[in-house]
Amino acid sequence: MQIVRQLDPLRDALAGFRKAGTKIGLVPTMGALHAGHMRLVEVAMEQCDAVVASIFVNPAQFGEGEDLDAYPRQEAADAALLEAAGVAVLWAPTADQIYPSGYATNVSVRGISDGLCGAARPGHFDGVATVVAKLFNQIRPDAAFFGEKDYQQLAVIRRMARDLDFTHDIIGVPTVRDPDGLALSSRNAYLTAEQRADAVALPEAMREAAKAIAAGGRVTEILAEAKVHMLASGFHKIDYLELRDANMLALLDDFTQPARLFVAAHIGRTRLIDNIAVS
Ligand code: AMP
Repeated sequence: MQIVRQLDPLRDALAGFRKAGTKIGLVPTMGALHAGHMRLVEVAMEQCDAVVASIFVNPAQFGEGEDLDAYPRQEAADAALLEAAGVAVLWAPTADQIYPSGYATNVSVRGISDGLCGAARPGHFDGVATVVAKLFNQIRPDAAFFGEKDYQQLAVIRRMARDLDFTHDIIGVPTVRDPDGLALSSRNAYLTAEQRADAVALPEAMREAAKAIAAGGRVTEILAEAKVHMLASGFHKIDYLELRDANMLALLDDFTQPARLFVAAHIGRTRLIDNIAVS
């Protein structure tokens, strides 16, 4: 596996692939890789001839007071995992390769970025859309792979790709979970043992609420009960627990298909997010 930090050698490596007619898959990440990220790599390996994984902890998608400085960084371990999985290129750019001196451009995907995490983290999805647009232009993949764990992010990227004429495939990959149901996340590393045990209340409450809604129960009451359950189980703040249309992410007061339940909640100093289809 080639580890590349500058655009010129990246372009050289990619030109070689293109000449050979290689189908290039891109897996963008912020590192601290776990089995969720590696599932994206696996799917990309199945669907493409060469996989480029990127690691860039993107300052633009962190708000003030968020965990940019604390975000886990472990590139050597990440590189070993990616190499063992058969990744061809690790694109680990220095910051100036993403934001050159004088950088002034912002990609903002209106509407779909506004609710859910966009409301709780103003500017977050502009940061995501901007860096992903840059990565798409730098790598020009044939397909790019994103986790459903960050479902709103996936929806923002799909919208951006349609609007800005990125024609490659955008592939969504189902969420990988620990056996107790907690979605894998680099931020789970922040949890103490006690918080990790309590955190299972989030997927539990989400699953039970989704089941009750699908069975025809009253949405507002079910969501209120699920919040009570989480707040009694170690979570101290719920940013949102909402039923939304699975495509446009419009808020739903009543259950209509296709629907998805979205949750973000704080336990200790960690903010966890998750989502699930309601059907
Ligand atoms: P991150 O490094 O957190 O920015 O995540 C990089 C990519 O991995 C994103 O497309 C995430 O949606 C995806 N991802 C993170 N956690 C999971 C998971 N548990 N299952 C599937 N995909 C995931």
